[in-house]
Parts: sequence; structure tokens; C-alpha cells
Amino acid sequence: MSSTPKPVIDWHARAAALRVDGRALINGRRVEAAETFGKHSPLDNRLLGPVARGQATDIDAAVRAARAAFDDGRWAGQSPAKRKRVLQRFAELILGAQEELALLETLDMGKPIQYSMAVDVPATARCIAWYAEAIDKVYDEIAPTAANALALIQREPMGVVGAIVPWNYPMIMASWKLGPALAAGNSVVLKPSEKSPLTALRLAELALQAGLPEGVFNVVPGFGHEAGEALALHMNVDAIGFTGSTRVGRRMLDYAGRSNLKRVYNELGGKSAVLVFPDFDDLDRAAQTIAASMFFNQGESCNAPSRVLVHESIAEDFVKRLAAEAPRYVAGDPLDANTVMGALVDEGQLKTVMGYIDSGKEEGACAVAGGVRAREATGGFFVEPTIFDGVSGSMRIAREEIFGPVLSVLRFKDEADAIAQANDSAYGLQASVWTSHIDRAHRVARKLRVGTVHVNQYDEDDITVPFGGYKQSGNGRDKSLHALEKYTELKSTLLKL
Ligand code: NAD
Repeated sequence: MSSTPKPVIDWHARAAALRVDGRALINGRRVEAAETFGKHSPLDNRLLGPVARGQATDIDAAVRAARAAFDDGRWAGQSPAKRKRVLQRFAELILGAQEELALLETLDMGKPIQYSMAVDVPATARCIAWYAEAIDKVYDEIAPTAANALALIQREPMGVVGAIVPWNYPMIMASWKLGPALAAGNSVVLKPSEKSPLTALRLAELALQAGLPEGVFNVVPGFGHEAGEALALHMNVDAIGFTGSTRVGRRMLDYAGRSNLKRVYNELGGKSAVLVFPDFDDLDRAAQTIAASMFFNQGESCNAPSRVLVHESIAEDFVKRLAAEAPRYVAGDPLDANTVMGALVDEGQLKTVMGYIDSGKEEGACAVAGGVRAREATGGFFVEPTIFDGVSGSMRIAREEIFGPVLSVLRFKDEADAIAQANDSAYGLQASVWTSHIDRAHRVARKLRVGTVHVNQYDEDDITVPFGGYKQSGNGRDKSLHALEKYTELKSTLLKL
């Protein structure tokens, strides 16, 4: 039996026909915010439309709606089984809107359409569905007290959660907050990045369509120093789930200190190290995997393996293998279904990345691939995949998060030196160890001060596995059942029998 081939989608035609609604969504309705700003696409700088530029008054309206929804129990008071059904419908609607959401994501922040379709939309739906499925299987506890007492230990929803998210995986990052926060019964005010506000607004519409009560999930787009600050300072917000830079993560702690000591969960930056030992028996696969993970999403990933530490005996050979991978990732038109590396999010990010490339050259590193801007005539913000050899641990490109397609190769002498260099970072998000010896893999993994260690791979990822960092990469964990801990309070109730 022959199956009918899927029709090829003309993404350019769809993009030309797209009409964007950038109004905020508060208390179940689209509303005009106090101000708007013009949102441009990084593909070619075209204007996508006016988007709400939320101010403190808009945030206050959203928080009031969220608080009222929480206090009257229209969502928190529903049984976990009922919340499950609504969130399952929400996940189904996300999948049903796959092409629309993928197009919005690509136009908004520049990633290739094939990945918006195959990764971002399905991962967002899976996250929501996973917490939906989980929430009616979580039990509370009874403490092992003396026989004449009964002590219940229960998790209750926190109340109003403010979610502030970045632009690199706008939908997925939002879903990592929404899934556990909504499943646990909280109300949410989501502040997407000003660089990628469009999919968040559509997600909130789909949630309403799925049956989420009005006021439970509100979205106020806007700038960090305006809407973001107002949300994080708000006296009626109980917790902030933040994903973004370490610089702004510090501010979140300060906002909490200056307001109501709300809980702050920070998922921050990274400079993840890859340790390649000479005993590893498939260096081609190592080079392919590292390049694929590094250049995925234009290198705009918090866990990008941007510091490659290679044993000095194989370094020259390994750099050649890495450099041979670079041509697979040339920057292309994000709306072309074959493109694997798209545009950086905006001109500011382009300047940041080019600035790091210049600093690498000035400090004496050698670009063995890329190092230049690409597709300038399109008006978009593209950089070729870049690999620096001869990097030392003191160079800026070895120490600072670049958040672009720039990989640095450093050399190590022995295992102890590799571990010391890997840990010589303010960050502690992820690392990977490449070795054919299981004892070495475990020995090194134990000593790495990071939230996740990959062994002989980099791309395994699952919603069941906690994600987050040590040190200045943050606190708390997204994903897995552990994320529910962030959005619930622990209540002890004691009875004398
Ligand atoms: P960013 O810190 O500039 O912005 C993140 C969010 O915070 C945005 O919504 C922004 O508007 C808001 N914001 C900015 N300034 C603010 C302020 N003064 N007050 C309140 N809110 C403010 O980060 P970005 O450039 O959007 O994202 C890139 C960063 O995110 C990178 O450092 C990356 O490593 C990190 N990130 C971390 C993870 C993780 O899970 N650890 C995942 C993705 C991205």
C-alpha cells in the first residue's frame, strides 16, 4: 500500500499571510496594554506587528486576575484528575496548532522551521501532557510520629507564580514553568522575552480553549526592566520561576529581597565543558555529536558544549575532525525546510557574538572554522559556525557565555587537569565525558560540579530528568517531578490522638 506523500509547505507564503496579535492576555481576554512596541523578525528585520509593552499597571491587572482565580479555587480547588484532563486537552491543542506555532517561533526568534516543527512544538506539548499525567499520581505523606499523634505532610499550590522566560526556546522554557505550576493548581502570569513574545500569547489562547478557567494563565509581554521588574517586585506574587542570564538572575534575588521575599528559582547561564579522553574509541562520533549540539539553535542554548577540553595527545587530530563538521551547519534561510542553522535573535546578539569572535582573535586564538557574519544582504543576523583552536583558560571566549555558534578548544594533560579546567568556571550547568572506560566515566562525573553529566553523548534529553545548575547556573530544577517542589508549599498538620 503506498502512502500519500505529505504536501510540501510553502513557509514563505504562510509567513507573508500571517497576521500577528500582540495584545496581552489577561483574565481570559485579549487586552490592549498601556503601550506597544514594534516586533521585528531576525530573518530579515521585517515588522511582525505591534506587541504589548507591558507596564506596572498591566502587570498589576494580570496579578490581580491570577490572585482572584487562585483565591476562589476555580482551578486550585479542582481535583487533580480534572486538572489533568484540561491540561491533556491543552497539550493536544498545542500539537493541533503545530504549524502555526512553529512558524511564529521561527519568525520571532530565527530558528530553522524544521526544528520548530520537530522539536519545539512537540517538546512543549509533551511537557504539558507529562505534568498532566503525573499530577493525579502524586501522594502526600504521613510522618512517623509517636502513636498518639498524627502528622500530615502535604504539598499545597504556592498561589500566584510569575514566570519570566528567555527567547532561545520561548515555548519550551514557558512549558517548563507552566507544566508543573498549573498542574499543581497555581495561577500564572507569564512574561515572555520582548524578543520572542508571540507563541506565549497563542499558548494562553489554546489553554483557554482547552478549558483552563479565566485568570489562571495570563501573559503580559514587555521589556525586562519594565514588565519583568514589575512582576518580580509585585507583593502579591508568591514565586518567580526565572530562566535567563546570570546577570538578571541576581536581580531576581534582589527584587525578592526588596519586596515580599517571594521564592525565586533561577535557571541561568552556562559554559559547559566537554572532556575528550584519548581512550575514547570513536572520535568521529564524538566530533559529530559535539558539533551538532554546539551549533543546534545557532549556539543559543544554555547548555551548549562551548568549551571542548581535549587530551593534548589527540588534540590536533580532534580539531581537524571538529572543523570538518562545521560546513554542515552553514547559516541558511530559517524558512527553508532544509536549513539546520538559522538567524541569531537580533542585531544586539549579533554584535555580542561578533565581539567575542574579535576578542578570541585578539587574544591569540585561531579560528579554524567560521569567524564571520553570513547572509548580510538579507538584512538578517547570521553568523557562520565558528571553532577556535589554541584557546587558553584565561581568554574571554573560554570563560564567558557567548550564546552564539562559537566553540573553543582547550588542551589538558591528564585526568586531574581536565577536571580542574572543567570546574574552573563560575557556571555549573552541564558537562560531558568521552571515554571508553566506565570507571573513568564515573570517577570524573562525580568530581564535576555541574547539574548534569553526559557520558559519551550530549543529546539525550527527557522530561523525566531534572535540568538545572550548580554554582552561578542557578538553583532549583526544571523538568521531572522535582519541579513540582518549586511551585508547592509544604504544610504540616498535627493532631493529638
Ligand atoms: P535575559 O536574562 O536577558 O532575559 C531573560 C528574561 O528576563 C526576559 O524575559 C527578559 O525580558 C527578562 N529581564 C531582563 N532584564 C530584566 C530585569 N531587569 N528585570 C526583570 N526581568 C528582566 O536572558 P536572555 O538573553 O533572554 O536569555 C539568554 C540567557 O538565558 C542565557 O544566559 C542562557 O544561558 C539562559 N538560559 C538558561 C536556561 C536554563 O535552563 N538554565 C535555559 C535557557 C536559557
